[in-house]
Amino acid sequence: MRLSEYFLPILREDPKEAEIVSHRLMLRTGMVRQSSAGIYSWLPLGYRVLRKIEQIVREEQDRSGAIEMLMPTIQSADIWRESGRYDDYGKEMLRITDRHDRDMLYGPTNEELVTEIFRDSVKSYRDLPRNLYHIQWKFRDEIRPRFGVMRGREFLMKDAYSFDLSPESARISYNKMFVAYLRTFERMGLKSIPMAADTGPIGGDLSHEFIVLADTGESQVYCDRDLIEREAPGEDVDFNADLSPIIESWTSKYAATDEKHDPKQFEAQVEIENRVTARGIEVGHIFYFGTKYTEAMNCRVQGPDGKLIPVECGSYGIGVSRLAGAIIEASHDEAGIIWPDSVAPYNVALINLKAGDAETDAACNDLYAKLGNTGVDVLYDDTDERAGAKFAAMDLLGLPWQIIVGPRGLKQGEVELKRRATGERQTLTPDAAFNRIVDGS
Ligand code: ATP
Ligand code: MG
Repeated sequence: MRLSEYFLPILREDPKEAEIVSHRLMLRTGMVRQSSAGIYSWLPLGYRVLRKIEQIVREEQDRSGAIEMLMPTIQSADIWRESGRYDDYGKEMLRITDRHDRDMLYGPTNEELVTEIFRDSVKSYRDLPRNLYHIQWKFRDEIRPRFGVMRGREFLMKDAYSFDLSPESARISYNKMFVAYLRTFERMGLKSIPMAADTGPIGGDLSHEFIVLADTGESQVYCDRDLIEREAPGEDVDFNADLSPIIESWTSKYAATDEKHDPKQFEAQVEIENRVTARGIEVGHIFYFGTKYTEAMNCRVQGPDGKLIPVECGSYGIGVSRLAGAIIEASHDEAGIIWPDSVAPYNVALINLKAGDAETDAACNDLYAKLGNTGVDVLYDDTDERAGAKFAAMDLLGLPWQIIVGPRGLKQGEVELKRRATGERQTLTPDAAFNRIVDGS
């Protein structure tokens, strides 16, 4: 993309309303724009990041065996009356009436809708287990929307729903999601800590929140250092194998947030040199709730003996739009964002130091074409801004690589290559710069 033809409304000044760094940087780099409280437009640059995050989530859901679908944002109140949650959900639910005076709502989550679909489509135990997911906008009328996309009212969520015949089988589905989550966040360059979460009124159930460590996180986190240093399972993990040893290795270590746990317990259980206290952001939440909705909504299948059995369910959320903010919280410096390669809106910033100079333009056009043809996404600054402003803007945007091309270097046959994360600079031929980027080293 040529900057001279792009839509990138960069702000020169820090926006006053931004309380945390990700919100400030997302507004400054023209990634998002608030349209009303907690509701954002994703401008072209931000939308590219959102789509990359979504794609990683999708690939890891698919790898684990979950099946993608798409449910609507607007739901009928009837199914929420069936489950009993229509009144319980309270003011966070945005309620709408259509022209026939039917009660509708903008979905804050989809347990009811997916249960209704499953109930009407699946009759036999032979069609279990299944895990259905979608990536769809949700609306929750939060009392205090804040921190930009981190706590919005409209936000993008991946929500998956597992359907099993028995609690044992449901546990297997739960474990698959657990491992998929570890892999998902690691691929985005994030350290995620799974924490046992409160299960609410339905006792005996199982729930974990996935917390990313960042200074501005909403909750205080206590955990064993071993959890931070541990690597997620690799690409070769077999989702059909018994995953419980992996789950055990992650859950046997101490991890808790202070709202629910006693710091004294932390000190009693974790060696002093392994104690980490930090702030955390909840990016995912998985939950096994058994037959709560299927009993209320009469979602049963015929078992091998012909008897009707209520289906055992779990639900599994990832805050897709929140992740855009969380990644910035975890990866930035004074100059701006530092995008991990996997979610960067473009891989390379190509900076032309003398737009209009025939030789410089030719060298840039050549690199731009060659990188583009290799599938490397380039944001090409072909404008006639002064060099200092170009450098500052590209550091702010935080693309992983910068190639700086100017007439002086070109006389020696050279360009400059900079790695944004480390600040490391190298002077080399355009071909060598191209090769280094393509090799990814
Ligand atoms: P929180 O405790 O942060 O309010 P929650 O527990 O209500 O979140 P869940 O119902 O578990 O949220 O939703 C699944 C995921 O969706 C969360 O882990 C979070 O990443 C994301 N999420 C929830 N609420 C919001 C919001 N208002 N804005 C952006 N993302 C959100
Ligand atoms: Mg939650």
